[in-house]
Amino acid sequence: MEKRKEITKGKAKSVYATDDPSKLVLLFRNDTSAFDGQKIDQLDRKGMVNNRFNAFIMGKLEQAGIPTHQEKLLSDQESLVKRLDMIPVECVVRNISTGSLCRRLGVEEGLNLNPPLFEFFLKNDALHDPMINDYHILSFRWATQEEIDQMKALTFKVNDILSKLFKDAGLLLVDYKLEFGRYNGKIVLGDEFTPDGCRLWDAETRKKMDKDRFRQGLGGVVEAYEEVALRLGVPGIGA
Ligand code: 5GP
Repeated sequence: MEKRKEITKGKAKSVYATDDPSKLVLLFRNDTSAFDGQKIDQLDRKGMVNNRFNAFIMGKLEQAGIPTHQEKLLSDQESLVKRLDMIPVECVVRNISTGSLCRRLGVEEGLNLNPPLFEFFLKNDALHDPMINDYHILSFRWATQEEIDQMKALTFKVNDILSKLFKDAGLLLVDYKLEFGRYNGKIVLGDEFTPDGCRLWDAETRKKMDKDRFRQGLGGVVEAYEEVALRLGVPGIGA
């Protein structure tokens, strides 16, 4: 496999073509951003930690029957993935109220949400990722009803698998964002699952162990990611 030219450069990852048109290389950079790119910093080791964390989680999801784009780890900061035709929506599930949910609806932080909430957002930084519903997705032909149903079912299935995985490591999976794409006519999980795109709280102390440490200037961002990875037993992290 040969890495070729850069196709896109996101806020924390770059995507490269390869000599195989059905495969891409993801480069997890040390760049960290929040508030639609308004707050940016470089954090040592973050690219490596997120690349390994993501490969570990994608592997667990595959084992549990979720189709993902992950093929293999290539290096500390690179992974080989399937090239998906991405659907421009973000699928969010929330188990505990916090973040934009509380700002939007004025509800208290820290409420257990039973059943968990599902929300769609349009992936568009310039518009600050506005919330949308199934009808927007259908009317603008971003996805079909069948694809919407599959994205919801897969996102909830990920909740069952990962809530248990994190619970066993003494962590609460508060909420998370997933992105899907099409591959050979099938809906497949793309993008990443790392502490950049989910909220994880220590189950005892409720200490934040995710990107809210960066968003809120709490410090110890990569250290928290590494602690989560250590608790999960992610290979290649820690001593
Ligand atoms: P909220 O809507 O409360 O800001 O975010 C809900 C969950 O989705 C959080 O776990 C957050 O990290 C994740 N999330 C939502 N939008 C984005 C995004 O544009 N980028 C990343 N990395 N995560 C997001």
